[in-house]
Amino acid sequence: MDHLIPDVDAVDRQPELLAIRKSLIGLDRSEMAAALIEAGIDEKAARMRARQLFHWLYYRGASKFEDMTSISKEMRGWLPEKFTAERPEITSLQESTDGTRKWLVKFQDGQEVESVHIPEEDRGALCVSSQVGCTLTCSFCHTGTMKLVRNLTAGEIISQMLVARDTINEWPSPKGDRMISNIVMMGMGEPLLNYDNVAKALKIIMDGEGISLSKRRITLSTSGVVPKIRQCGEELGVNLAISLHAVTNEIRDILVPINKRYPIKELLQACKEYPGSNNARRITFEYVMLDGINDSPSDARELVRLLKDIPAKVNLIPFNPWPGTQYQCSSNNAMHRFAKIVNDAGYSSPIRVPRGRDIMAACGQLKSASKKAPASARRKEAGAEASL
Ligand code: SAH
Ligand code: SF4
Repeated sequence: MDHLIPDVDAVDRQPELLAIRKSLIGLDRSEMAAALIEAGIDEKAARMRARQLFHWLYYRGASKFEDMTSISKEMRGWLPEKFTAERPEITSLQESTDGTRKWLVKFQDGQEVESVHIPEEDRGALCVSSQVGCTLTCSFCHTGTMKLVRNLTAGEIISQMLVARDTINEWPSPKGDRMISNIVMMGMGEPLLNYDNVAKALKIIMDGEGISLSKRRITLSTSGVVPKIRQCGEELGVNLAISLHAVTNEIRDILVPINKRYPIKELLQACKEYPGSNNARRITFEYVMLDGINDSPSDARELVRLLKDIPAKVNLIPFNPWPGTQYQCSSNNAMHRFAKIVNDAGYSSPIRVPRGRDIMAACGQLKSASKKAPASARRKEAGAEASL
């Protein structure tokens, strides 16, 4: 195989090789093996190498082949000719006064998304994006105002986790307490409208030989893409959160327009049938508190009625403002009155403390400046990247 082994530095100087190198991030073991076979490795060796690569990428967090010391030196020299394990670029990293961090990451085509880490005492949740923008235009959500939308690949979804762990210095995957102990698919985009890539990414994140995060520590939030809810429970078994936000179709049609396709009754039926939910593992209903829109005592009583027979808990989210919004957050009194009614009916219903508002990192505030660059700029950027 000697003739295949180039000088690593020489690879980095050859722009045409950069363009054809395939990213291994987002591939599962069998896809990695297939990619190695395609690159000329025999089948048995490819399966063994794929297991090693999986371990280095997702357990140890290596981003350079030269660091993968259990792989033969010869192979370490050859891999960068064909593959990369590099992260997307971090365009900006901000930290809130409350410790919340927000990354803006930029992918190869120049599109950007945000991810947010919300630390607690000895744990923390990483809020991950599933799309650039969102097609669903919920009227109170900043992400919904973005014009450009595209699905993220599985690799782009996982790489948000890798970037966060690089920054927080959480490699190799710790056995005990972790600062990124939970994942919430609550960033930009509607995860169930990019189900295949989200599922692939989460399966890799759950894999016991890699990051190894349990399904009980992963929550997927949906605005109500009813036909995908069952599949999500059956295949992934992650916790489900529903962005309910209103108790009548009339109001929900305005707040969460996908309600016109899948109205409240159908949505709640899918929740009743969600595989794996029970009293120990409840479905979370998110309810944004909007002044004068959905926050009356009768709304609270109707919510209790709707949730009957569903193992549910409720998260009351104070509305987070963003530039140009027409809504205001409910008063403290209204929120507490609402919470008491739901709580007295037997449902946990905390009023969430907003995190990271000062850096626009709170729920519903995420929006990147991604836009389609004119063709001339795209050509220039491609040229610039190739000569790096
Ligand atoms: N698209 C999915 C995942 C995003 S999760 C979904 O809608 O469920 C983000 C959560 O924050 C959702 O519950 C969303 O409805 C809520 N949200 C959106 N804008 C908000 C805002 N301005 N203030 C508070 N919560 C908001
Ligand atoms: Fe999209 Fe969720 Fe925002 Fe609605 S709330 S626009 S579904 S990201």
